[in-house]
Amino acid sequence: MLDIENRSIKFLPGVGEQRAAILGKELGIHSLYDLLYYFPYRHVDRSRVFSVSELTGGMPYVQLVGEIRSFEEMGEGATRRIVGHFTDGSGFVDLVWFRGLKYLKNRLKIGVRYVVFGKPSVFNGRVNIAHPDIDDAETLHLSEMGLQPYYNTTERMKRAGLNSQAMAKLVSNLLKLTGENIVEETLTPTIISKHALMPLNDALRIIHFPKNTVELRNAEYRLKFDELFYIQLNILHYAKDRTLRYAGHCFSKVGDIFNRFYKEFLPFELTGAQKRVIKEIRRDMGGNSQMNRLLQGDVGSGKTLVALLSMLLAKDNGFQACMMAPTEILAEQHCATLRRMLSGLPVSVELLTGSTKQKERQYILEGLADGSVDILVSTHAVLEDKVQFGNLGFVVIDEQHRFGVVQRAKMWAKNRIPPHILVMTATPIPRTLAMTLYGDLDVSVIDELPPGRKPIVTKHIFRDRVNEMYSFIHTQLQAGRQAYVVYPLISENEKSDLKNLEEGYKQLCNIFCNYNIGKLHGKMKSKEKEEEMRRFSAGETRLLVSTTVIEVGVDVPNATVMVVENAERFGLSQLHQLRGRVGRGGNSSYCLLVTDGKLSDETHKRMEIMTASNDGFVIAEADLKLRGPGDIEGTQQSGIALDLKIASLSRDEQLLQYVRNVAREIVDADPEMNNPANRILWRRLMAIKKANNRNWGAIS
Ligand code: ADP
Ligand code: MG
Repeated sequence: MLDIENRSIKFLPGVGEQRAAILGKELGIHSLYDLLYYFPYRHVDRSRVFSVSELTGGMPYVQLVGEIRSFEEMGEGATRRIVGHFTDGSGFVDLVWFRGLKYLKNRLKIGVRYVVFGKPSVFNGRVNIAHPDIDDAETLHLSEMGLQPYYNTTERMKRAGLNSQAMAKLVSNLLKLTGENIVEETLTPTIISKHALMPLNDALRIIHFPKNTVELRNAEYRLKFDELFYIQLNILHYAKDRTLRYAGHCFSKVGDIFNRFYKEFLPFELTGAQKRVIKEIRRDMGGNSQMNRLLQGDVGSGKTLVALLSMLLAKDNGFQACMMAPTEILAEQHCATLRRMLSGLPVSVELLTGSTKQKERQYILEGLADGSVDILVSTHAVLEDKVQFGNLGFVVIDEQHRFGVVQRAKMWAKNRIPPHILVMTATPIPRTLAMTLYGDLDVSVIDELPPGRKPIVTKHIFRDRVNEMYSFIHTQLQAGRQAYVVYPLISENEKSDLKNLEEGYKQLCNIFCNYNIGKLHGKMKSKEKEEEMRRFSAGETRLLVSTTVIEVGVDVPNATVMVVENAERFGLSQLHQLRGRVGRGGNSSYCLLVTDGKLSDETHKRMEIMTASNDGFVIAEADLKLRGPGDIEGTQQSGIALDLKIASLSRDEQLLQYVRNVAREIVDADPEMNNPANRILWRRLMAIKKANNRNWGAIS
């Protein structure tokens, strides 16, 4: 068998140095194996012949058989073209060429039977086909052609002659070179027969050159199965391995402090969902293995309180707890909330961030080491090796999508036995993505908001109607409420963005001259930021002009209006996060998304979804469908390779679930990987991990 993984693409007939460089740069194709796994994005059936009378403008590629009756030269300069009047007896259609006119005139003959292949469109009310492929009907054996593969190519590739057809030719050369036996089978005979899968070698050949659609579907199924199976096998095996290796701290009792807080200090009745989740957490932490739980709850659903109660369980069992937040503002806010809620109870809460002064830092570090600090609220600052706990038993990570896998793993190492971990996110992760990223991370959901919340009214506002919006904001401010105006500042270094924000600030100062207006962005010193935030929280400023630094967690119940400027530049989940900053008190709240009049279809869709739904899960699913998983916030940092070649997390949910069960059975039956029947699987898994060369496995 040819070692196609280690054979450079440049040695393939039809490639050579120059094209190899282009393939590598444009598509990441370096080896023969890479080319084999560069799958066509669709196929066109060349055995199907349409008749001219059937044609309409919106059709995809079609094929006609007939003859050209006459030629006509038309237009001048850039619009100069040749039109061939083509018929198959059922009607006429214009074939149009703008380039290569001379060559065409010599080559194409009137009255010869041709096969024409191209995409119909409508021009001046007539159907035409521009730059069709034309072949002599005598030499083309249509019935044998079957489905033709179409490959994505880039402009640079096309300039080097590497269009879709050329790619097909290269793949066909490759398959000639390898013969029938292209690669080693990746699944065991048991799996293949049990799940009625096509052998891998057949699937790889057929995915490029299928004879019919049934065959094609089967090949796709097999390859998707393969792809999803190994992702699942990896995470499930990893999770299994961890539970086998670590026992976990057992928080056996519910103690005094938890009970006192619950009975005497709780400011409100817990929602049913909060109660359920706390029960789930208690059960996990009271068992013998390390908890890894993902808590999903829409913005404002009361996750902080769940975290607090769980941390008290740690304290009651003689352990320390740590709560990590993605920004200093948020950490400060959490610390203040915890201290307020716990005042009067013997629980010490400290804050450690990058801005903590040296003297105080020293004091806190000592307290952590000797166990006198019960709860530490922190940011990335806690990850430093210098921060050592006496007996850390529980870690809460808030707004998890800002933290990567590596950072989470660092927290495990803060105690000899890794602490229990609770990851909280307000950006619900779609189920398929969660299954892919988190293996056996258990998921809890708070699917109920505290009582008395009114749904936030979301409106899409075109820029030419902003005056009406300003007068609406006036009425809200007059009623004593507060408002946010958020500008996009995607990268904190974007000068032009910062300018927009400054100009917007000036303008708003003019419009709302009777009110104090604050300004907040990531370029400010953290002291300044803190002060701005404090002023807004205290109601000293009534309007806050800001970037997305306020995106997560900030809690000012009196704020009822969230204006998002240039809303088209934000993703769905980000918009939803921003919206979650209002609607936190008892007053009706509003989210106003401002855009220009001219929008792409995708932006229109996003605005529609936002105005139609307040449900974070609906939004997250829609986001996954619109953008694909690679772009979803957090997946880049997650450390997992999600550039799926054929499966899709939004379309193949059922298969994913199915394949996960297959992988789980194997891991459960063979956790130590020593059943010889599964050798093929483990070998392949190791090879994939090595190839990914990333922290693919280290997922909590
Ligand atoms: P998030 O889930 O977005 O982190 P928070 O924990 O910040 O939400 O809670 C949002 C607000 O709801 C806070 O002001 C909090 O005090 C309040 N809250 C939480 N739980 C309840 C409850 N059971 N009843 C009433 N208010 C609650
Ligand atoms: Mg929160």
